[in-house]
Amino acid sequence: MEFKNLSLLELRDLINSGKTTSKSIYDYFLERSTKYNPELNAYNTLPSEKNPDNGWNGNVGLGLPIGVKDLFCEKWIRTTASSLMLENFVSPYESTVTDRMKKAGFISFWKTNLDEFAMGGSGENSAFGPTKNPWDPSRIPGGSSSGSAAVVAAGLVPAALGTDTGGSIRQPASMCGVVGFKPGYGRNSRSGVIAMASSLDCPGYFTRTVRDAGLLYEITAGADPMDMTSLTKDTKIDEKIWEKKDLSGIKIGVPKEYFIDGIDLGVRHEIEATIETCRALGATIVDVSLPHTEYGISVYYIICPAEVSSNMGRYDGIRYGHVADGSFNIAKNREEGLGSEVQRRSLVGSYVLSSGFYDAYYKKASAVRELIRDDFTQAFREVDVLLTPTAPTVAWKIWEKWSDPLALYLEDIFTIPASLAGLPGLVVPVGFASPKDDASLELPVGIQIIGPVLGEEKCLLVGNVIEQALKEKIGSKHPKIW
Ligand code: GLN
Repeated sequence: MEFKNLSLLELRDLINSGKTTSKSIYDYFLERSTKYNPELNAYNTLPSEKNPDNGWNGNVGLGLPIGVKDLFCEKWIRTTASSLMLENFVSPYESTVTDRMKKAGFISFWKTNLDEFAMGGSGENSAFGPTKNPWDPSRIPGGSSSGSAAVVAAGLVPAALGTDTGGSIRQPASMCGVVGFKPGYGRNSRSGVIAMASSLDCPGYFTRTVRDAGLLYEITAGADPMDMTSLTKDTKIDEKIWEKKDLSGIKIGVPKEYFIDGIDLGVRHEIEATIETCRALGATIVDVSLPHTEYGISVYYIICPAEVSSNMGRYDGIRYGHVADGSFNIAKNREEGLGSEVQRRSLVGSYVLSSGFYDAYYKKASAVRELIRDDFTQAFREVDVLLTPTAPTVAWKIWEKWSDPLALYLEDIFTIPASLAGLPGLVVPVGFASPKDDASLELPVGIQIIGPVLGEEKCLLVGNVIEQALKEKIGSKHPKIW
């Protein structure tokens, strides 16, 4: 039986109706993952044994496998952050998100590749080599959750966990043609997730359907005493949203600042066509303005490195981490153990926090962050959700932009503002567009649905209706590796 095209809920139905077993499903995905991983380089570590357990009755997860970004600590499992610094680090404890996922009966499929410490948007920054996009293995899958997006897109696993600090779930979801969901800041606990920028980091999901994203959200999200920034508001999703077939009564904002020059025409066309589909489905479309959008990238690339420089301080090779030829030379341990992007951000971060520059950079950026947040607050007085492109382009060639960090940072232009404001963001595949360098190729495009604070359910509702409306169009194409 083929399982690669099925959602978690469809797989669960097959098990519950006795048509297959958890063990067959697990072994099927392990076999596919083992077969295709050499081509995709999407996993850092794979389980080596077939699932010995067939007794998964009762629990929602039913033993279904979930890929886990190699940034979530799992007890006694190697957790590397795709860094040489942590190449041999075996975590002594478990992250809250993976713990909740496992208690619900899902099985970790171990560790997917990423940009080192989640710094990047292409997957190229991994110490273990770049992950390939299943739609065209000569291209990037997006990042930093590169492996998690690729394994779901290629049908190597039905769902995967990722993290999103400035777009790391949404952008690769768009580029790999899968659903990507970043709940708002504080909805998923950060406990046990290796920190990048602590005021921005959000765990979330890659799935085949919006409904699966909702299922995982209800399981892993919610208050956690181990993370004092986690929110207490409950995370229950009203079941009725899954029955909605149209968007009557829903107000959708379209921010003009997200439709700028520089966005590929093919991408723009797919996003605008989807907005028209929403109108036809009964939504009221409202033009809105988020006037401080243009400062998003500058603000993010000050605040993020500032927090990175602080979070990276612990990797010195003394308590743990890479040790250069048995020495206690911290500088050398770090120089050898950390990749160039991590070093760049640590340096920039130390600079913007240093006395004399703190006011000019970090303090100013924090003030502008509030203006960006206020823009959204204003917009959400009028509308339920915002619809925007996720990234200005489709997937580009591996190494094409790697030597130009600024070009890479610009790719984050549409995902960063919602991160700075701590808002939920859902990406749903809506079409295909050709890259500039190959008119014969069609690559996935996803739309971004941004919701207000605590507005996860609204994102899921709108995303589910869009997904149903475009099911045939999206289902008509498959990745090369499939
Ligand atoms: N691409 C962004 C960056 O490099 C976002 C990364 C992320 O969300 N982890 O910072």
